[in-house]
Amino acid sequence: EKVIIPRAEHSISRALLSPNGVKVLYKLREHGFIAYLVGGGVRDLLLGREPKDFDVVTDATPNQLKKLFRNCRLIGRRFRLAHVHFHDEIIEVATFRSTVDAAEAAIEEAADAPPEEPTEAVSEAEQLEDERGRRRRRQHHGPPILKSEDGMVLRDNVFGTPEEDAIRRDFTVNALFYNISDFSIIDHVGGMEDLKNGLIRTIGDPLVRFTEDPVRMIRAIRFASMLGFNIEPRTEAAIEALCGTINKATPPRLYEEVLKLLLMGAGERTYQMMRHNGLFEPLFPHFDAWLSRESDGYPHVRVSKALEWVDDQLGQGVPVSAPLLIALMFGEYLEEKVAAFREAGLPPQQATDAAVAAFAGELSPTVAVPNRALVTVRDILNLQQRFHKTPGRNGRGVIARPSFGDALQYLRFTERLTPPKRSLAEWWERYVAQQLEAQGAPVEAAG
Ligand code: ATP
Ligand code: MG
Repeated sequence: EKVIIPRAEHSISRALLSPNGVKVLYKLREHGFIAYLVGGGVRDLLLGREPKDFDVVTDATPNQLKKLFRNCRLIGRRFRLAHVHFHDEIIEVATFRSTVDAAEAAIEEAADAPPEEPTEAVSEAEQLEDERGRRRRRQHHGPPILKSEDGMVLRDNVFGTPEEDAIRRDFTVNALFYNISDFSIIDHVGGMEDLKNGLIRTIGDPLVRFTEDPVRMIRAIRFASMLGFNIEPRTEAAIEALCGTINKATPPRLYEEVLKLLLMGAGERTYQMMRHNGLFEPLFPHFDAWLSRESDGYPHVRVSKALEWVDDQLGQGVPVSAPLLIALMFGEYLEEKVAAFREAGLPPQQATDAAVAAFAGELSPTVAVPNRALVTVRDILNLQQRFHKTPGRNGRGVIARPSFGDALQYLRFTERLTPPKRSLAEWWERYVAQQLEAQGAPVEAAG
């Protein structure tokens, strides 16, 4: 049932939207199209939070969008979306669709974005890429919606009505439309009520929706954590019932989602929530088993401490990289593995390499950590040993290493955990400052 909340009865005003978002909405409107703001943008504005991005939905087709906006690129191979480029912002414009696994479309977008029609200005490489995209799309002809036997949505590609577009979304609070033509909010799914009550609730039967796309279970936790909301009981029960199916999502996508989950500033709370509702175990089975074993009667509490520290850093505006998060979160576990390889006779660096490789191998069936991140994790751990020699041979080479900053942050954390008599982290900080002063040049130039 469709509920319209008029301008006077909600808190979104045009002044809160990004000016570029407003421009896009108005231009669509001027040309006779429906134009709504949707998703996280509407949700966050209603909650008085600053939205990360502004997504627009419309009844204009991708080709119509291409004609309407000069600064527009069509992306996504399974479901075409328009990115309208401004110099400091991209507004994503999608055509109403009836069913789609939006998140997978987003991942595909990031992976490759062939342009729609090659223009004179398009490079050869881009044209080649475009041809590949076309071929792939040709291969993708066939029934527009495809479900595997166990109900996962594999492909869908159908334009729909606004209502259909709302109900194929994940959670009620993510499906509200802000209508530029009269500044009202259109609610097809009871999202306003859930927003007021602080509830994350799937649209439709949670068992069905989580089966279609298991990543939605992680998203439920992320939104609950991020907004301080509760997960509605049936939705939560479905997570507990289906958490074991999380690994039906692809390992690269799960890696991306888990990173977002743990790096949004409430990682510790999120980790506890996931241990509690059973999502953690299927994502990290080996690590979870290790966590459940106590070592010498002491439970492993370092993970919580590490995640608290990460939250604290992010809260202070200090960025935390993916490899640093991994090194911190799995630090004690990795150290145990390194120790085992040392006992088996490997020299220090090789033991670290072997430990990180073994760890990546354990994780790979569920969460695929990209190689470049693993290389940095290895470096962070190896540098911990190197830090004990102050400055040692080629100290300037050490501070010029790309992972030096991450490694130093790791050291700060371990020193916080067990404060040493003499802080190595401080020593290296002073050393960096001295080097900078001596050279009058950026550290990157050293070594
Ligand atoms: P964030 O603040 O993290 O950007 P968001 O709600 O905007 O939160 P996005 O991942 O940017 O989340 O997705 C935009 C919108 O697309 C969502 O609000 C939701 O309506 C829809 N969506 C995204 N992923 C899915 C999914 N897996 N299944 C169904 N709908 C989805
Ligand atoms: Mg968003």
